[in-house]
Amino acid sequence: MASLVPLRRSANASPRDLRAFLPTTRAEMDARGWDELDILIINGDAYVDHPAFGAALIGRFLEARGYRVGMIAQPAWNDTTDVLRMGRPRLFVGITAGNLDSMLNKLTAQKKTRSDDQYSPNGQTGSRPNRATIVYSNLIRQAMPGVPIVIGGIEASLRRIAHYDYWSDQIRRSILLDAKADLLIFGMGERPVWEVADRLRDGARIQDARDIRGTAFAMRKGEWESVEKSRFVKDGKALWLPSYETVLADRKAFSEMSRAFQYETNPGNGRPLLQPHGHEAVYFNPPAIPLDTALMDELYDLPFARVPHFAYDQRIPAYDTVKHSIVTMRGCFGGCTFCSITEHEGRVIQSRSAASILREVRALRRMDDFRGTITDVGGPTANMYQMKCKSDEIEASCRRLSCVHPGVCENLQTDHTPLVDLLKSVRKEPGIKHVMIASGVRYDLAELSPEFVRDLAKHHTGGQLSVAPEHVNEDVLNKMKKPGVESYDRFAEMFSCASRDAGKEQHLVPYYISGHPGSTLGTMIELAIYLKKQGVRPRQVQDFIPTPMSMATSMYYTGLDPFTREPVYTAVDLRDKKLQKALLLYWDPEQHDLVREALVRANRRDLIGTAPHCLVPPAHGKGSLSIHTRRRANQKRPRLRT
Ligand code: SF4
Repeated sequence: MASLVPLRRSANASPRDLRAFLPTTRAEMDARGWDELDILIINGDAYVDHPAFGAALIGRFLEARGYRVGMIAQPAWNDTTDVLRMGRPRLFVGITAGNLDSMLNKLTAQKKTRSDDQYSPNGQTGSRPNRATIVYSNLIRQAMPGVPIVIGGIEASLRRIAHYDYWSDQIRRSILLDAKADLLIFGMGERPVWEVADRLRDGARIQDARDIRGTAFAMRKGEWESVEKSRFVKDGKALWLPSYETVLADRKAFSEMSRAFQYETNPGNGRPLLQPHGHEAVYFNPPAIPLDTALMDELYDLPFARVPHFAYDQRIPAYDTVKHSIVTMRGCFGGCTFCSITEHEGRVIQSRSAASILREVRALRRMDDFRGTITDVGGPTANMYQMKCKSDEIEASCRRLSCVHPGVCENLQTDHTPLVDLLKSVRKEPGIKHVMIASGVRYDLAELSPEFVRDLAKHHTGGQLSVAPEHVNEDVLNKMKKPGVESYDRFAEMFSCASRDAGKEQHLVPYYISGHPGSTLGTMIELAIYLKKQGVRPRQVQDFIPTPMSMATSMYYTGLDPFTREPVYTAVDLRDKKLQKALLLYWDPEQHDLVREALVRANRRDLIGTAPHCLVPPAHGKGSLSIHTRRRANQKRPRLRT
């Protein structure tokens, strides 16, 4: 159970090393002349002091505000010795499971254990517990009774209301109650955690910090009945969500909860929420106000070491992916139903200035292993940089869940000039040879800017450009809130022409999802036929994973579209999910048995054979199915959840 990865003794490090990171040991505290911490961060990931890692970002942000912040990454959780190594902090302990939900990090869509953990040294698994936020909270309560516990990060944020947990196939309570934490910070946490720290520093009790945007806290019976009188928040009454018990018993109520919750996520008009859980309730303040450019710049200009802590001997795979990349923005107004980015980072795009980004380019140049290639300049969606609604007032009162579905909103400013200019400036920096875009590109926006597509093909694509059309079937795309396939086809044509003009042979690498709510064997066959006609052989395919709190997860669990309230077909059977995924890999001989089984189930034997239109050859070349395939095809049919 202990998670410890071999560490070099920090006593062997040079004095400069001891001060280069947020302290992780007493020796590093001593090197800074600290006798105690103000704030201790417990982190489920390895400590990489780089802005792509949430715990480092929050830690450095607080440090810049004068707080003495320490970091314990991936502590052993079988006893309290490890988390006590720097003593009890003066103000609070902040807990995060890491950059990913700990269950998603551990298990696949088929509920099998993953072979590696990208956020742990050497990619080794077992360095953090399941449901890490809860386990770490229990550990801290045991180690430091009475210390305020503040939970945050993706896992806490996306499990903040009653939610469906795919891996246990259960409805779980708000994680705030299961962790018994004092406060939960949701969304990007800089503003809320700053406010919490300031209040505690000024002598407030954590129990009194109840009106901070982006936070949630628990109330006991007798406390919350009068919440509708707007007791804690001056600017609006709380919306009561159906209770945990109600959504546990009634899938329709769960669907209603998901929908109601979504409409309160705009910081401009989102109301406080309250959800009863038995004798307790969780009260959610409205979302935090997004960071402006000045704060974004300040955040990313902080003195990150940009490398893993010196105590690690092994490489950390997630760091290798991002070490030469630059974040330009956060947030996404796409609102794709299967994605948690909008849920966590918000719909409002928060961009850095070009000057700040160029400062980071120069910092990259100073890295020993940097050879002139920036592997990514982007964010959740690279070409949303500096895009926004035409008016702050309209944006603040908007009730739409996506600015680009169905169709690009007429109020959205889709000008790509700031991004085109930024990329040009980055390319001109001395010592920069290549500037890649590996982040997602929203093609329904990109097709509005031939100049951007031209530069993308000419300068920012290294032979292959990843894009995510996700599907071709209109009904499925609507359930996903993704643009239609015709938009993708137009973009593909533009990209192909731009590549030709640039004298480069390169192509798109499209990503698709199988098993999404609304997706059937029939729609997956439609997709496979489309791919075959296009000559596309996807290698990276995603079997839909119902992550906590997404709208697609609500569809998966309830079998209802929360927006239309109509039934949605949902592949809940693992075999059905496997068959859907196999259809995307119709070209791979290893999948042929599964593809034949899928085609038989869908009454599409006409696609088994050697004719040009067929997806797979007959089993053993005889035009018949193997015994294995026949047996599987005759087994139970997929269930429809309604
Ligand atoms: S009005 Fe349109 S562009 Fe503005 S926030 Fe709403 S959906 Fe987005």
